[in-house]
Amino acid sequence: MNDSTKANNKGTAVVTGASAGLGKVYADRLAQRGFDLVLVARSQDKLESLAAGLRSDYGVAVRTLVADLSAETDLEKVAADISADASITLLVNNAGASTLGSVFDLSDAKRDEMNKVNVTALVRLSHAIVPQFKARDRGTLINIGSVLGFFNLPISTVYSGTKGYVASFTHGLQQEVAETKVVVQLVLPAATATDIWEKSGVPITVLDPASVMTPEDCVDAALAGLDLGEAVTLPAVENAELYAAYQAAAAALFGASQNGKPASRYGIKH
Ligand code: NAP
Repeated sequence: MNDSTKANNKGTAVVTGASAGLGKVYADRLAQRGFDLVLVARSQDKLESLAAGLRSDYGVAVRTLVADLSAETDLEKVAADISADASITLLVNNAGASTLGSVFDLSDAKRDEMNKVNVTALVRLSHAIVPQFKARDRGTLINIGSVLGFFNLPISTVYSGTKGYVASFTHGLQQEVAETKVVVQLVLPAATATDIWEKSGVPITVLDPASVMTPEDCVDAALAGLDLGEAVTLPAVENAELYAAYQAAAAALFGASQNGKPASRYGIKH
């Protein structure tokens, strides 16, 4: 433990997928806010160079965990590491994988990668830390979903499925910690200018530039949403009531399903 760690009362923030895109910006902004950091991704060189810059710019303690979150042994290693580190007060489950295109063209490996990184790792790491947050009655979990979690494109079948899971799981966690001081935020970015597009097979240049946000704006808005106490932050959506209306419609639909008998339009007679 170095001097900056001892002096730090914010604690340590873990950022998965910190080597690029949104995760890299989260790492910068959280360091700026005075958090020590644990940076997780596969690209050791990128993590080390980011860590060196953050130590020098902000004087915080930064350690790196090189891990492939789609690999069970690496995931368990990260889960065990963060469970054992009592200084952790914030986790950003940001790492994500995306391959877009028809589900019929999607290889088993690419489908599994999305399921493992976007869902299995996010769930495992949430489980590794939230019980500790709950026991301490302190801590913040930020899960990164996507607007494609509530809207399907024909090319986003599996990706949308994973992000729909993230939203549903995160809302469940929010209910589970409702009586505590633990904060769970769901962040739902729309198109943001990161490498994920190129990796997904759809270059960002095909999108209307007016629909694409910078990663800096996206993370700054998401952290502003966190500061405002938003449970769900949609950085690009002007009318914040829209998501509440969407959730209210889902609740009304659930209520309407609690009937115990087929709807009259099916003509089932007893
Ligand atoms: P990105 O630039 O491609 O960065 C993805 C990060 O995740 C990288 O640091 C990458 O690091 C890490 N990662 C990917 N697979 C990994 C694995 N198997 N193990 C460990 N780390 C892994 O993407 P981004 O746009 O910043 O995405 C961040 C999050 O935002 C994702 O959850 C994404 O789904 C979500 N999102 C993005 C957009 C958008 O338009 N950009 C929109 C909505 C939601 P390594 O390659 O070094 O492992």
